[in-house]
Amino acid sequence: MEKLAINGGYPVRNSKIYYGKQTIEADDVQAVVNTIVSDYITCGPKVDELESELCKFTGAKYAVAVSNGTAALHCACIAAGIKQGDEVITTPLTFAASANCVLYCGAKVVFADVNNETYNIDPASIESKINENTKAIIAVDFTGQAVEIEKIKSICEKYNLIFIEDAAHSIATRYKGKQIGNLADLTTFSFHPVKTITGGEGGAVLTNDSELYNKLVLAHTHGITHDNESMLLKDEGAWYYEQIELGYNYRITDFQAALIVNQLSKIDRFAERRKLIVKKYNEAFSDIPELILQKNIKESETCNHLYTLRLNSEKLQCTRKEFFDALSAENIQPQVHYIPVYWFPYYKNLGYSKGLCPIAEKIYNEIISIPLYPKMADKDVEDVIHAVKKIVSHYRKDK
Ligand SMILES: *Cc1c(COP(=O)(O)O)cnc(C)c1O
Repeated sequence: MEKLAINGGYPVRNSKIYYGKQTIEADDVQAVVNTIVSDYITCGPKVDELESELCKFTGAKYAVAVSNGTAALHCACIAAGIKQGDEVITTPLTFAASANCVLYCGAKVVFADVNNETYNIDPASIESKINENTKAIIAVDFTGQAVEIEKIKSICEKYNLIFIEDAAHSIATRYKGKQIGNLADLTTFSFHPVKTITGGEGGAVLTNDSELYNKLVLAHTHGITHDNESMLLKDEGAWYYEQIELGYNYRITDFQAALIVNQLSKIDRFAERRKLIVKKYNEAFSDIPELILQKNIKESETCNHLYTLRLNSEKLQCTRKEFFDALSAENIQPQVHYIPVYWFPYYKNLGYSKGLCPIAEKIYNEIISIPLYPKMADKDVEDVIHAVKKIVSHYRKDK
C-alpha cells in the first residue's frame, strides 16, 4: 500500500489544487478592457445586455443584475414582501446568505431538514414547518442539483407561499428539460469566482412576474423611480425622480457585466467539462463501499458546481477531519459544504440549537467537496481519484 503524504509518504502531486476555481480566458480579459474604457462603467449597456442574455438563456421574462448573489437573495425577499412577523423556510445545508437574507427583512428563518440521499430540502419537512406566518420558501439547488421543484411548487400553491430558488449552484442545470431560472417565482444566481460563471462578484434575480420585477428594480437602486406613472408629482421636469420605497445600492458595474456576458457565451462548454469530470468521479467512486455518492433525481439534468463525497463512517476507521487532512497533504485541497447555518454562534444566539435538522447534521459530519472546475486537466482529475482511493485504502476497515 502507498504511504500517505500525511504519514511522510510522497503526495500524489506537487502543486496544490483547490475545490473550485474560475476560468478566465483572453476574450474575457478583452471584454472587461473594452468596457472599462467605454463611456459607461456602471448603469450602462453591458448591464442591460447581461439582463437580456440571462433571459434568453433561461427563458425567464425578466432579470435584474445585481452586485452579488447575497444582494440577489435580499432583493428577492424584498420583492416577495418578507417583513417582520413573517417566517421563511430554508435548508440548513447551504451558505449562510440563503438564511441571512430573511433576517435582513426582519423575518424569522425556519429550517427544514434535507433528503438523506439528495441532500436537498425535503418537501415533507417543508410542509411540517408551515404555519399561518409562513410567507416563502427559499430552496437551494445544493451542488447544482435541482430541488424537487414540482413538489415545492404545489406546496406553495396549496399554502399561498412564494417560491424563491437559490440557484447560486445551478445555473446551466435543467429540470425536466427546462433551464433553471424560469421555474420558481424568483430565482437568484451568484457570479462569485467559484460558481459556474463569474464576474468577480455579481448576481441576478429572475422572474416571470412583472410586479415582482418592478419591486426588484426598486430594491436594487435605492427605491428610486424615474417612471412618470409611478411618481406622486407628474411632469415636474426631465431631472425629476422620486424615492418611493426604501431600497439599496446593489448595482453591478458594466465591466463585471461584460465579463459575465462573455462567460455566459461559453457556459455550455464549461458545463460539458463539469459534467464530464462528474462522470469520471462517479465511475471511479461508485463501487467503493467506503464512499457514498450524492443521489441525483431523474428530473434534474445537473451541471454540478460542487462534487460532494460522503464518507461511510461504518466502513472507515478515520474521522472526516483525518480524511480531509490526508487529502490536503496529498495536495488536493478539499472544502466542506456546508456547516449547518444554525450551528453558527450568531444563530445560536437567536435561539437555534443543534439537533434541529438531524439528517442535515449527519450529512455535514460526513461530507467533503473535492476539486471540480472546468480548467482541471485530465491529469488533475486522475490525481484527485488517485488520492481519494489511496486514502480509502489506508483507512478502510475490511482489508
Ligand atoms: C455563493 C452562494 C450565495 C451567495 O452568493 P455571493 O455572490 O457570494 O453573495 C448564496 N447562496 C448559495 C447557496 C451560494 O453558494
